[in-house]
Formats: sequence, C-alpha cells, structure tokens
Amino acid sequence: MARVSDTYGSMVFNEHTMQERLPSATYKSLLKTMKQGEPLEIEVANVVAHAMKEWAIEKGATHFTHWFQPLSGITSEKHDSFLDPVSDGRAIMSFSGKELISGESDASSFPSGGLRATFEARGYTAWDPTSYAFVKDEVLCIPTAFCSYTGEALDKKTPLLRSMSAIEEQANRVLALFGWEPQRVVPTVGAEQEYFLISEKDYAKRQDLVMCGRTLFGYAPCKGQELEEHYFGAIRPTVNEFMKELDDELWALGVPARTKHNEVAPAQHELAPIFTNANRGVDENLLTMEKMRLLASHYGLVCLLHEKPFEGINGSGKHNNWSLSASKNLFDPGESPMDNLRFLVFLTAVIQAVDDYQELLRMSVASAGNDHRLGADEAPPAIVSIFLGDELDAIVDALVDDHEYESAEKVAMDLGVDVLPNFLKDNTDRNRTSPFAFTGNKFEFRMPGSNVNLSDANMILNTAVAKSFKDFADAMEGKEGDEFETATIAYIRKTLKAHRRIIFNGNGYAEEWEREAERRGLANHRTTADALPCFVDPKSIALFEGLGVLSEAEVRSRYEVKLEKYNKLLNIEARTMKRMVRRAYLPAINDYAAEVARGITAVRAAAADAEVGQQEALLHKLLAGVKEIDAQLQALDAAHHAALGLPDQQQRANKYAHEIVPIMEKLRAAVDEMEVVTDRDHWPVPTYNDMLFYV
Ligand code: ADP
Ligand code: MG
Repeated sequence: MARVSDTYGSMVFNEHTMQERLPSATYKSLLKTMKQGEPLEIEVANVVAHAMKEWAIEKGATHFTHWFQPLSGITSEKHDSFLDPVSDGRAIMSFSGKELISGESDASSFPSGGLRATFEARGYTAWDPTSYAFVKDEVLCIPTAFCSYTGEALDKKTPLLRSMSAIEEQANRVLALFGWEPQRVVPTVGAEQEYFLISEKDYAKRQDLVMCGRTLFGYAPCKGQELEEHYFGAIRPTVNEFMKELDDELWALGVPARTKHNEVAPAQHELAPIFTNANRGVDENLLTMEKMRLLASHYGLVCLLHEKPFEGINGSGKHNNWSLSASKNLFDPGESPMDNLRFLVFLTAVIQAVDDYQELLRMSVASAGNDHRLGADEAPPAIVSIFLGDELDAIVDALVDDHEYESAEKVAMDLGVDVLPNFLKDNTDRNRTSPFAFTGNKFEFRMPGSNVNLSDANMILNTAVAKSFKDFADAMEGKEGDEFETATIAYIRKTLKAHRRIIFNGNGYAEEWEREAERRGLANHRTTADALPCFVDPKSIALFEGLGVLSEAEVRSRYEVKLEKYNKLLNIEARTMKRMVRRAYLPAINDYAAEVARGITAVRAAAADAEVGQQEALLHKLLAGVKEIDAQLQALDAAHHAALGLPDQQQRANKYAHEIVPIMEKLRAAVDEMEVVTDRDHWPVPTYNDMLFYV
C-alpha cells in the first residue's frame, strides 16, 4: 500500500511540482506572482500552462475547468477538453497561457443581484495563482475569480482576496509601529465540518430530504442524543470505510484532513483539517463538502450538509478557526513586554471589530437553514459575543477599571511592562457556548452553519479587523518610544471600555443572556430576513468601500442575491410541505382511519355488545388530526400565495420568516402528532427512528 506521505498532494500542481516541472526562470516569476501579487506575463503563462497540461494528462485529465464560486456559494465548473483537432484528422492536446489565465463564461444564469445586465451576460474568470490548480475526476481545475467585464466581482473569492490584502496592509502599519519589518501577514482558517450520514434508501423515500436537504416532518425518535453514546464513539465499519476513502481523496488533493470522529447527534460526524491561509482554507472546505457528498454514494449513504436536517437533535455547524500569521502567529501572547503590548493591540482590534460589526458577522452566516440552528439548544444564539477566558478577562477588567491585575495564580502584573502569563492557552476555551471564542492563539467563530461558504464570514472578519488596525495606526502615526507606549496603553483602555459589552463569558445558551444582551444593546437578529438588511447600511458600505473590499454596487448585489436565495428556498420548502401533506400524509392517515372504521363495523357486526370505545377514540383522534392538518394547510397555502404576490424581496422575506415559518411549524406538529398514532405500515415515509440509528 502506498504511504500517505507519497500520495499526499499528488493531484495538486503545488510548489514542489512547479519547481520540478518548470524552467527555473519561469518558476521564479510564477513565485513572484504567487507571493508578491506581481502580474503574470503571457510568455510565462504559456510555459506554465504547457507544464500544467502535461502534468495533468499524466494524472489522467482530459479536460480543464476554471473552478469558481459564484454568489450562489457553491463551486461551479464547466469542462473544456484539451482536445484540439488538427487538419489531418488527428488531434493534439493543447492548453495555452491565455486559457490558463482567463476564461469567458456565458454565465447569465448565475445570480448577480443585478450587477450584470442580461445584454452583457458574460463574465470572465481569472486565475488565482495563490490557490493551487488540481486534478479532480479527470479534470484540471484552476481556481479562479469571476468578474464582470466592467470589473465588478461576481463571486465570493474576489472580495475575500481583497480583504486579505486590506488586513495585510493595515496589520503591517501596526507592526511597523512596533518596529517590525514589512512582511506577509496572512489570515489563516481551519474549518471544522460537521455532517450527517443516512442511508440512501431512506433518503430516496423522503421528498423533503431530496428537495430541501432537511426533514420538514418527523416525530422525535424514541431516543435522541441523551445517552451520549455516539459522541466520540467507535466508528461503524461502513462509515469508517467512507471516512477512509474521503481522507485518501482529500489528501491526494492536498487537503490536510486531520481529525474525524462521531459527533453528539446520532448519525452525525465531523472532519477537521489543518489550517491554512484563508483563501485556500475556504477552497479546501468547499472541496471537502463536495467530496463528502459524492463519495457517500459509494457506500449506499447520503451525506447531509444541511444545518438542521432533523428537528430535536443537534444541527451541524462549521467552526471557523481564524488567526493572523506573519513571521509568527500574531495572536500568540509574546515573550517580551513589548510583544505583550502588541498582542493586546491585536486582541483589542478584534474585540472592537466584532462589536462594531457584530451585525455583519451575524449576517455572514444567515441562511434559511441556519435559522433553525442558531438559538437551538446546541448552537450559539443569534447574538454575537466574545469569550476571552478567565485570564484574559481579568486582564481586560484590570485595564478598563484601572486596577492592579491579579492573575488566577495571584501573580501581580504591571500592565504593559510585565510578561503575560504563559498559561493563557490552558485557561481558554472552557466555554463551548460562545459564538466567538478566543482559543489560545486563534478565534473560533462558531455561528457558521455546515452548509455555508466561509468566504463571506472571513471577508467580513478580515475587513472589520483591518478597520480596527487602521484606526489604531492612524491614531498612533508618528509616535515613538515612551510616547507611543503610553499612548498605546491609553488607546487600549479607551477602546476596551467602549467595546466591553461584546465580551461575555457566561452561558450563551441561557435565556437570561438574551435579556442581558438586550440591556447591553447587542443585536439579536433571529432570522435571515432580519439579519440581511444591515449589509446595505451606510456604515457597512463605508467599511467595505473604505478598505477597497466591495463597492456599493457589489454590496447591494450581494444583499439582493442573499435575499432571493432565502425566498427561493422558503418557496421550495412551502411547496414541498404542501405536496407531501396532500399526496402522502393525508391519504395515509385517511386510509388508516378508514381501516379503523371498518374494524369497528366488523367487530360490531360480529358481536353487537362488543366494547369498541378505544377504537372509536382512535378514529376520532385521527379525524381530528386530519382536520387540524387541513386547517394549517389552508393557512399555509393562503400565506404562501400572499408572499409570492409581494414584489419586494425584503417584504417577501419578512413574510416568510415571521408568518409562514410559524405556520409551517404548526403544520409539521399536526402531522407529527399523527405519526405516533398511525399504524407503521400506513406511514408513507421512514421515521426518525428508522433513519438515525442504522448507519
Ligand atoms: P479543537 O479541536 O479544540 O476545536 P484544535 O486546536 O484541534 O481545537 O483546532 C481546531 C481547528 O482549528 C483545526 O482545524 C485547526 O487546524 C484550526 N487551527 C489551529 N490553529 C489555527 C490558526 N492559527 N489559525 C486558524 N486555524 C487554526
Ligand atoms: Mg472547535
């Protein structure tokens, strides 16, 4: 068997392969493009393209594609073959520098939020040389940005790349004040991915899963997750085989999948990779999701990436671990007093960013699916707050209230002069309920749902923190030595005081926190419809424009696309619900009621004095259930039609979120009540009991 270290990255045109395959002058100029963002000359691109093609063909590729992320969030690819017929009837395999660098995409069907008029439907894709090309399923995939001809970003990657430049530039300004040389500063991302696996046979029998990715109906199983027998439990053989193939495929693609385990809910699992730069981290997560979906079918399984496929048991999240990497991790408390001060500046910047742009962060993870997860038992609420841990919290308190800092170990510390206790790391991450936790030398943003493309969240995080850095660097410009140190400590104090409300170390799942958060003036947007409008606030637009990450038109288009997507998903859910009720549940319950009625008649015919009270009660219960289901169905139908009649997308979203979703919940409850009294053989779909415990 091949050693993993031999196959790791074997399908990736990485630096090692480039060095091996490219003339050294070409390799050097490509590196310059990759590392310093210098433009790629067409002559160089031609040489790179040729080498890449030869390499890809050896790996079995017949086609190439520009692999990109339109605003729908999922990756898109259109395969072109390398085939180039020549005049004598044969064909050669060709791939030019031009084809590598840019492609045209007749992409009129991708959502653009009005950015691209239909008469100018074409967009173009441009190679992102900072993310490696790779061969996947016989296709050479070239990670690309996707733009309109007028230069607007039509994708998720471009703004992320811009935000990475913005934070790099501003971080360097801060570091320069501390005497650091200019250097690469890169946001890093490690995305922990949760998912469910269920049997393909069950899946196929449930229209709600097939159409919506989640169960719109289903009574809670007899046992849920209370025995905690699944969490970190032995992985069953089929699942294990699946995970093995997944690891192998991901490793070959250079995705450093590292840990895998069973999660809390039955049938739920998790995969965590080793972190990398934000851009690649997002790409790798998208590849991971794609592979999960595709490979599951090899084992008769379906991988559900929905944020809440099953009601009453845990949903799936995607923890976004985020940090800043320069010559060292910038969120590592330092060894020297001056480096401690720098650490506090960086920490303060994040606290300020998360407070100032809490609504944008919430917005970045808003989706129809995640609405069912945020605020449910196991996920952070829709309120953004930061958890720092006892030790850092005490430091912040000391700074804000201007008293002597005493660590848990009772070591007095003169701020800014002494060294931060190096046991910080062990004192953090005791709180799993926080949406944004400092975990030693990185932050863990826990609000993203399992299905989300992490570009938006990281784009916003990078931009917001870049803005804090900019504020600090602007304020400190020209200051040096003692003056700088004193001004910095004062700046930290003032900023922490202003943003202390965002720090919360208590139980984020508790009801008291909602009330407390309201007192503190923190935003609590429970639904996507409520969360999206902040995107187009003047404050947000100023942020994005100010740092060159998104133009106003680009912001507005993204807001439109998100709204439309929400409305479309809710429309599909409402339709699926109605269809299932009319064509599956009502006929089944009516059938069973008729059978019970026939039984009563038959028993009475056989013995006129027979006791049939129980049977009659059941019959009445079934008929009452049918009546209630029908009433909710009518209500849903009316509200749904009214929603579709609203031309304004925001109004429509509000209607879905505040009126239709509650009716859908009632309709679901009415059907679920019948599930537990209807004969098993009559029930038209597999139940939670059937689906969750066999895989
Ligand atoms: P836990 O398992 O307790 O959540 P880990 O330390 O195992 O914490 O890390 C979880 C995830 O965080 C992994 O994907 C890991 O690669 C990622 N991670 C670790 N350090 C960083 C960092 N500096 N930047 C971004 N992600 C990181
Ligand atoms: Mg984690």
